[in-house]
Amino acid sequence: MSLLLGPMCQHIPGKKGLTDHSDVKRLMPAKEVYIPLFAGNNSEVELLVNEGDHVYIGTRLANTKSAFPVPLYSSVSGIYKGTVKRPHNSLKPQLHMVIELDEDQEAVQAFEPIDWENASHEDLVEFVKNTGIIGQGGAGFPTYVKYQKVENIDTLIINAVECEPYITADYKCVMDYPEQFVHGVRILKKLAQVDRVLIGVKKTHPDLINLVRDEIKRENLVGIEVVAVPDVYPMGGERTLIRQLVKREYKRLPGECGVIVNNANTAILVARAAEMGQAQAKKYVTFSGEGLKYPTNVLVPIGMSVAEIIEQIGGTIEDVQSLKLISGGPMMGRTMVSDQIVIDRAMNAITILKDEEEPAMTCLRCGRCTSHCPMGLQPVRIANAVKMNDAAEMEKRGAMNCIECGLCTYVCPSHIQVTENVRKAKRTLMMKANKK
Ligand code: SF4
Ligand code: SF4
Repeated sequence: MSLLLGPMCQHIPGKKGLTDHSDVKRLMPAKEVYIPLFAGNNSEVELLVNEGDHVYIGTRLANTKSAFPVPLYSSVSGIYKGTVKRPHNSLKPQLHMVIELDEDQEAVQAFEPIDWENASHEDLVEFVKNTGIIGQGGAGFPTYVKYQKVENIDTLIINAVECEPYITADYKCVMDYPEQFVHGVRILKKLAQVDRVLIGVKKTHPDLINLVRDEIKRENLVGIEVVAVPDVYPMGGERTLIRQLVKREYKRLPGECGVIVNNANTAILVARAAEMGQAQAKKYVTFSGEGLKYPTNVLVPIGMSVAEIIEQIGGTIEDVQSLKLISGGPMMGRTMVSDQIVIDRAMNAITILKDEEEPAMTCLRCGRCTSHCPMGLQPVRIANAVKMNDAAEMEKRGAMNCIECGLCTYVCPSHIQVTENVRKAKRTLMMKANKK
């Protein structure tokens, strides 16, 4: 960790205006969806339907057998045609379930709703596990896991900050469903067994702040407060948000300092599951960036391909040599290997930019990457250790603590891909650990 702590965050242009005030486009694939079966390396999946079966929106399709198992539900109705390998964000082709859509698009109740106010903690955790809900902030961690042990938790933070440039999917979703959002927050509050819930929203979204505050007032709820946070990056990162809202630090997980953090959209999914027995079928996803002709938010079934969505919203710009397709935002997102990748349960944005990276120059030793790192790391030192292939130094410099926020690259005046080097260090250390 660095002793010379600087701002650890930075205001960056939000570019939210490209999508935050236009209507959400509701799209459907022409023929098929492809439900990804990938649940992490070495994880198995148990299929619950057979080729040729008719499935409905909400039919349970599969159970994952990973360390934290969650079921998968169908996002459309139609005929299950079998599995196929397709490009995937894990960088390797992965198995997907192919479902050919029918005309009716009929839904079934995926599971029994729950009397959440009277349910025991164990029953509520088991209920959330059965819903298949995973975190909607991008990481896709199963939601129930955070609530299994809550004895030391005193604060629940709902993250509605959405600090990455371009992305407005959470903003649009909460603006469209404020009642379901606040209801979901109530259920999560009961699940966390806390008296205090803080909802973090960027101060640049006063409409969202007022809407949610009005809903809390209308429902006469106590212990739930909306807090306007500064417009800096990475304010939506767990560590930065916890620091801002409750002035606490932790080593590995927020639970160590008595906090659970959940994304705003996760609360909406929990409300729908508890009240209607509804599994997640569709997603709000921001399609934005200067590479698109008409940036917009879309509401699409899970499993719809990125290529088909881009086509339906009007395509990419033409007067450019090459485009960069990113899963997520430009800071934390990952370059996509193919537009045949589909929208999965955790994706919240696809950003398409002109591919015009500036050439890297010599390091000026200015220290900006270090002073801005929200994790207190010295990214340039880690990058140097990568160049020297010195794993011990990478470890000593705490590379594994990097949250891949991208700020070190963003602030570097020499256009050095510092984050990419820190990612390499993490990969090196992970491979080393796996060999042991
Ligand atoms: S990408 Fe990693 S090393 Fe770079 S600023 Fe963010 S947390 Fe620090
Ligand atoms: S910000 Fe860039 S130029 Fe400055 S010390 Fe870090 S790597 Fe070097």
